[in-house]
Amino acid sequence: MKELPQPVQNLKQILNFIEKKNYKISKLVVITKNHTYEKIQLLYDYGHRDFGENKYQEARDKFPLVKIKPDEPFITHHVGPLQSGNARNIPQIFDWIHGAGSVNALQILEKASLKNYKKSSKRIHYLIQLNLTREPSKLGGFFLEDFESLFERKILPTENEAMIFKGFMTMGPSDGNLEISRKVFKELRKIRDQYKKDGELSMGMSGDWQIALEEGATILRIGTAILGNR
Ligand SMILES: *Cc1c(COP(=O)(O)O)cnc(C)c1O
Repeated sequence: MKELPQPVQNLKQILNFIEKKNYKISKLVVITKNHTYEKIQLLYDYGHRDFGENKYQEARDKFPLVKIKPDEPFITHHVGPLQSGNARNIPQIFDWIHGAGSVNALQILEKASLKNYKKSSKRIHYLIQLNLTREPSKLGGFFLEDFESLFERKILPTENEAMIFKGFMTMGPSDGNLEISRKVFKELRKIRDQYKKDGELSMGMSGDWQIALEEGATILRIGTAILGNR
């Protein structure tokens, strides 16, 4: 019997773990940044459907190379901060946006998604990103007090027929401290319960996805643990 390619084995292992432990997730997004389209193809042919990138240009060049089965979805996710220069192009090639972390980015997205919707009837799904580690990082996200104030004033969540608010996203600390990961994942879940009961929780990466599951993640974003080092 031919052995399955390594990325497929890795993905299977994670999916088996989730099934065995009876976690209910809605998506596992494989993050393919800095990896070739051939690796996406391997996983797509195996049956995986959700893929994420963090740069518009890389995604624009890479995604069209993947051979898609007719009548089968290929679901694309933008993760990480929205570069304001490219935000207006995002709705053309992405279905989900995980890094809506500023009013400015959301305004650009709102306009761009409406324009794209008129041409293609395509809706985008987005998650509000919170920065709960309070790292002054370029990774983006609202601080909690800003989010709360914008929500109270009904500036958030942005919604129109082209743009659907689906829930929340956050990231653990950049130093990989797992106690802090757990703390911010717990916090995000509370925020979700308070502001959007049925909302998604996009949290958990290669280093902390098991903790994220324990804390109620519904969407995982995993790169390295499936595809290897970038
Ligand atoms: C790169 C990236 C991931 C995946 O990271 P890994 O550690 O390789 O699993 C998840 N989320 C975001 C926002 C990313 O930029």
